[in-house]
Amino acid sequence: MKEDYYEILGVSKDASAAEIKKAYRKKALKYHPDKNPGDSKAEEMFKKSAEAYEVLGNQEKRAKYDRFGHQAFDGGGFGGGGGMNMDDIFSQFGDIFGGGFGGGFSGFGGFGGGQRRAKGSNLRIRVSLNLEEIANGCEKKIKVKRKVQASGTTYKTCSTCNGTGQVTRVTNTILGRMQTASPCTTCGGSGQMIDKKPEGSDAQGLVIKEETVSIKIPAGVEDGMQLKVSGKGNDAPGNGIAGDLLVAIEEKEHPSLQREGDNLHYDLYISYSEAALGTSKEIDTVTGKVRIKIEEGVQSGKILRLRGKGISSINGYGKGDLLVHVNVWTPKTLSREQKEFFERMADDENFQPNPEKSDKSFFEKVKDMFS
Ligand SMILES: [Zn+2]
Repeated sequence: MKEDYYEILGVSKDASAAEIKKAYRKKALKYHPDKNPGDSKAEEMFKKSAEAYEVLGNQEKRAKYDRFGHQAFDGGGFGGGGGMNMDDIFSQFGDIFGGGFGGGFSGFGGFGGGQRRAKGSNLRIRVSLNLEEIANGCEKKIKVKRKVQASGTTYKTCSTCNGTGQVTRVTNTILGRMQTASPCTTCGGSGQMIDKKPEGSDAQGLVIKEETVSIKIPAGVEDGMQLKVSGKGNDAPGNGIAGDLLVAIEEKEHPSLQREGDNLHYDLYISYSEAALGTSKEIDTVTGKVRIKIEEGVQSGKILRLRGKGISSINGYGKGDLLVHVNVWTPKTLSREQKEFFERMADDENFQPNPEKSDKSFFEKVKDMFS
């Protein structure tokens, strides 16, 4: 039993021709193979809808169908047992989508009825950020020279394509009439041509204008990343849409902090005396200076982890840490008095290395850092 054509399109028996056309448009867009690649169910629905429209969209055929049902078309002709092939369906589209979608259906990008909205070109800038700005996110105001539509530029309908943005060519082939559509080269597919433009504007009626663009930079960006600010590139002529502003991130080197992903590293140098006696030291962080305590008897190579003092993750999952590497500075020259002191201590038991389990080796510490 064949499905009812009205049911396939989802319209009532007394639907107007316009309602049927609208319903088919919706189905065709929904089940279009370009939008449902490899989906055989969608393809089947696409074909069924086309078959239903082939009958209901034609007054004579619809009247026959209303009187006799599917039997009216049995024994050949459209809507018979064989259904429609894809080429038949696409040749319907010229009628349904207001021209332009004939044979080739690659042009399905602009559903608006054939016109293609031109897009302005993208602009590229570089923004240099310091580590503090990267760690916490920031807003930058950047002067950008954009091409904008000059006031006083007026447009008229393109005479080549009559505003459709497409040029349709019909050729007769052995399989019947074939329609091919391609973007209009006169207007670039926009359907519009410049009528009047003020002096000083370019061929597209655009002028260069300096504009301050506010760019929100999320925390955690990295050198070489690119952000997109939609619509802040060059304007397109006429009804087109502006291009995008592409912002390349450049990371300035910090004088004392080194970045590694979301973590930061800081090299702290302390003296022998400070290592032996303990001390407190001020170190740099991305939120300002912080004083940290160094216990007496600290070993060179110890890593102190300041949790959450690193960079906010770009994914929004927490923050990295600040790892403070303790380096004990060995004096390069000694006074006679100092030399004598260290010579006296050379055999002192207290000065002999005696690492405990808690004094992990450098490699174990590195392993810890990344776990
Ligand atoms: Zn044109």
